[in-house]
Amino acid sequence: MNETSIELLKSLTQADGIPGYETEVREIFRDAVSDVGPIGTDRLGSIFCERAGNAEQPRILLDSHLDEIGFVVQSVTDNGFVKFLPLGGWWAHTLLAQRVTITTKLGKVPGVVGSTPPHLLSGSRDKVLDMKDLFIDIGAESEEQAAEAFGVLPGCPIAPYGPFMPLKNDKLFSAKAFDNRVGVAIVIEALLRLDEHPNTVIGAGSVQEEVGLRGARTMAASVEPDLAIVLEGPPADDTPGLSVGATQGKLGGGVQIRIIDSSMIVNPKLADFAIETAKRHEIPYQLGVRQSGGTDGGAIHQSGRGVPSVVLGVPSRYIHSHVSIINIDDYTAALDLTMHLVREIDASALEGFLFG
Ligand SMILES: [Zn+2]
Repeated sequence: MNETSIELLKSLTQADGIPGYETEVREIFRDAVSDVGPIGTDRLGSIFCERAGNAEQPRILLDSHLDEIGFVVQSVTDNGFVKFLPLGGWWAHTLLAQRVTITTKLGKVPGVVGSTPPHLLSGSRDKVLDMKDLFIDIGAESEEQAAEAFGVLPGCPIAPYGPFMPLKNDKLFSAKAFDNRVGVAIVIEALLRLDEHPNTVIGAGSVQEEVGLRGARTMAASVEPDLAIVLEGPPADDTPGLSVGATQGKLGGGVQIRIIDSSMIVNPKLADFAIETAKRHEIPYQLGVRQSGGTDGGAIHQSGRGVPSVVLGVPSRYIHSHVSIINIDDYTAALDLTMHLVREIDASALEGFLFG
């Protein structure tokens, strides 16, 4: 039953799309929704597709960011090793001995993140290495070979390499970039599967979220939504070392309805509506109230005269690394709630969220 979703998640996570270089993901989005309705882009690279409903108003935006965290080539050493800069929030701990893919004008170049092996370390082995002490080994013998034979030059984008892997528990899947390809997949599936809705739906893939919600600003200015549902892959907090009592992102716990984070306070009436809708349709959900973190909602809700927005998430373990894990039931719950909200938010429901 979930086969379509799983195949879509596989193709989206295996595409490379670091901030500013989202082309592969954008093209999957474009191909998938090309028969749904008119497609537009803004001038930074965000893409959106409009699905006509029974009324022109309200305009409901389903947003997802296309990008994943990655790196860029800063320089190549004389003996062919790549020095790099991070794009987005990495923790150097997670990088040692990982694989990456560099996209060049001559094609893809695989590499491994290298560091001094423990045998050769003189001082303490307990220290977290600094990102600037790491390098990528692409097997080149010189800067010249890296540039001319491999096409590896300063500015080339570098994505993590993280295969799509079903786990023994057949609800669970591991891959890179579930943050935020789960969101992209939900927007695509909702656009394809929606039937009757009393509004106009615009499904969007924004660029450059991981470096500060940059694409969401220009995308929202282009789309001019009346209300937004932001689809995300927020961090799960159900692993050892975290307090069980405070768990808000449990795998298998359902869609996470995020109420507050450092980028947005969700319109309380919209939050209630989302919760009531989940209850009415018996969709499992969990609430997120977070001191830190932010989503595209942070930019979208402040666009124009203000856009009531809510964030729905599929909790993902180990995000911002090569090996995130999701439970497919949470994905299904997030997709179901998204589609019910779209079917039920009409002009009068929107009016009820406002303050007149
Ligand atoms: Zn994200």
